[in-house]
Amino acid sequence: MHSDTSAENGDEPPSYSILKSLKQFRSAGRGFWSDVPDSAWNDWRWQLQHRITNVEQLQRLMPTLTPEEFAGATLANHKLALAITPYFFNLIDPADENCPIRWQVIPRIEETHTAPWEMTDPCGEDAHSPVPGLVHRYPDRVLFLVTDRCAAYCRYCTRSRLVSNASGYDFHPQFDKQLEYIRNTASVRDVLLSGGDPLLFSDERLEHLLRQLRAIPHVEFLRIGTRIPIFLPQRITPQLCAMLKKYHPLFVSIHSNHPRELTTEVRDALGRLADAGIPLGNQSVLLRHVNDDATVTKAHVQKLLMCRVKPYYIYQCDLISGSAHLRASVRQGLEIMEQLRGHTTGYAVPQFVIDAPGGGGKVPVNPDYVLSRNAARVVIRNYEGKIFEYPEAADGTPLMPAPTEIEEPELV
Ligand code: SF4
Repeated sequence: MHSDTSAENGDEPPSYSILKSLKQFRSAGRGFWSDVPDSAWNDWRWQLQHRITNVEQLQRLMPTLTPEEFAGATLANHKLALAITPYFFNLIDPADENCPIRWQVIPRIEETHTAPWEMTDPCGEDAHSPVPGLVHRYPDRVLFLVTDRCAAYCRYCTRSRLVSNASGYDFHPQFDKQLEYIRNTASVRDVLLSGGDPLLFSDERLEHLLRQLRAIPHVEFLRIGTRIPIFLPQRITPQLCAMLKKYHPLFVSIHSNHPRELTTEVRDALGRLADAGIPLGNQSVLLRHVNDDATVTKAHVQKLLMCRVKPYYIYQCDLISGSAHLRASVRQGLEIMEQLRGHTTGYAVPQFVIDAPGGGGKVPVNPDYVLSRNAARVVIRNYEGKIFEYPEAADGTPLMPAPTEIEEPELV
């Protein structure tokens, strides 16, 4: 996965050379598809039409499937459909059972094991849906689900109950009703389009929706949640970017979990979005076998900045059924955060959150930097573990009374 350059670089610690290697931008290459003309390979519709969607294709392209993966792929439609774009498939290292890309998209038999605390709707979205496909969980913003389809399927998907329709949820968004609810609810100032992946829509269909949302006077802010720039960077065409920039302020939240996902193709696609004036944030999920490691996460967040993306959230993996094999502990998440704050650029540090099970919303979880606090003082520690005191002042005035007389030093 990385080349050891410590010999060339004298006294660099090994973690530094790993970090440097993880941050290299590489192309996903053509792999099995070297005969495909550029015009087809770079066409997002070709990529969708040629996705790997069944165990036979997977086995042919990757004879190194483990028994767990083979069994999982055979049952792939039990929880989520199997789909991997040829582009993203090329990022998998078939020789490495621990390949972090592989763990995200290749089904495993463990998906059929459900722990007692796991749920099909861990964020309680259905209970907060005033109309089908619209989640109104927070006071001033809504989640607008536009489709149940994605370019590829993440094995830990929080919305696996509805995404891909593999488990028969029968998702049918009703745009008229969703839009009407937003029009009639003046408190909604922020609309997040998600799903499934909104960028699977044609430019025309997506624009039709954005235009209607933009016409609602109290909607100040639009967001799109998408993993398309990572699974299918070919979709980020100049035409799409030109259309999106008409609907500012519009932010895009991408979903990347590992620095290897940030290829030259992805960097260029994200650059096109950024050039259209679209602020970009990344949401990642803390995953065992993928990114439960401080060096990998540091490389990831630094590389995101190089792609003009602000690392926004790291989610503790939701308690979605069949995800125990991918769930890292909260303790590991906190340890990783501890290795980021102060150790790298503040812009690179995301917020670690737990989406409270059952629909409590996102709760920020931080290492303890405040050691004690009372009416007189706050005791804090910094990233190096050094301890400091800060005088507390409830009303904002200095706690220490100013001296009534200032003694002038004697001149000698
Ligand atoms: S892209 Fe998002 S919605 Fe689609 S499978 Fe992955 S996590 Fe779920």
